[in-house]
Amino acid sequence: MRPCLFIDKDGTLIENVPYNVDPAQLRFMPGAGQALAALSSAGLALVIVTNQSGLARGYFTRAQFAQLQEALLQRLRDEAGVRIDDVLLCPHEPDAQGRPACLCRKPAPGMLITAARRHGLDLTRSWMVGDTLDDVEAGRRAGARGLLFDSGGETVWRRSPLREPEAVFDNWAAVAAHVLDEVATGATPAGRST
Ligand SMILES: [Mg+2]
Ligand SMILES: [Zn+2]
Repeated sequence: MRPCLFIDKDGTLIENVPYNVDPAQLRFMPGAGQALAALSSAGLALVIVTNQSGLARGYFTRAQFAQLQEALLQRLRDEAGVRIDDVLLCPHEPDAQGRPACLCRKPAPGMLITAARRHGLDLTRSWMVGDTLDDVEAGRRAGARGLLFDSGGETVWRRSPLREPEAVFDNWAAVAAHVLDEVATGATPAGRST
């Protein structure tokens, strides 16, 4: 079973342009491609998990999102030599309180668990990196570790034990260095045996 880096898309892998599906507005975070290339070389699977409530809200179609996704994956291949193993999306809206009304919308762990089953991923040796505490919580709920990429996406800072990131970063080089170090030392989440 492989370890994996689960990656949030908006505000983490790329700059957050709310509900954008125009490939021309795709801007990668600095160093993201190189970081993912290094992590892939170290044997990690790379899986994007993204909440896309714009689908349920009717802001864009599946076909439009697929076009954006293809452009994103192609640019990662062409510009950084990175192959993403899978992309999972939640197309649902949250409830009136902003909580998931499905099993897949982060902070629910559904997308990570589905990907783990599909690709034989070892969640206890995996990480979720994202720009909100919902990403951290989704990772933790799946049994993985949660890393916060603080690019300004989190504004509420609702705290709970499951929303405590293992570490906080503001750049991709630091994310890669942290994960590569833990891969090299075989570190596992505190309090959890292998
Ligand atoms: Mg995000
Ligand atoms: Zn969902």
